[in-house]
Amino acid sequence: MARYEGKCPECGKTHYSDMKGGVAVCDCWQHCRMCGAEMTPYAPDLAMNTYGFDDRRDFAVLMVCTLHFPMFFSTRKPVEVVCT
Ligand SMILES: [Zn+2]
Ligand SMILES: [Zn+2]
Repeated sequence: MARYEGKCPECGKTHYSDMKGGVAVCDCWQHCRMCGAEMTPYAPDLAMNTYGFDDRRDFAVLMVCTLHFPMFFSTRKPVEVVCT
């Protein structure tokens, strides 16, 4: 069976598809860029009330890693890799 592959531009991971032009979604955006841990979805209310990151309102923060201080905010989105 033919395999087509595509490389994630973010992390370099190779994804495979048995269909030409098949799209794979890389999960690297869910992992912290600093420590590699799986991040938690960002909850603006919780984070703002608890930590007072009001200036984060303008950021399109999607995920957060709570293992750091200050916490690491990620604006990365799922990466779609087209396999060719
Ligand atoms: Zn990736
Ligand atoms: Zn981290």
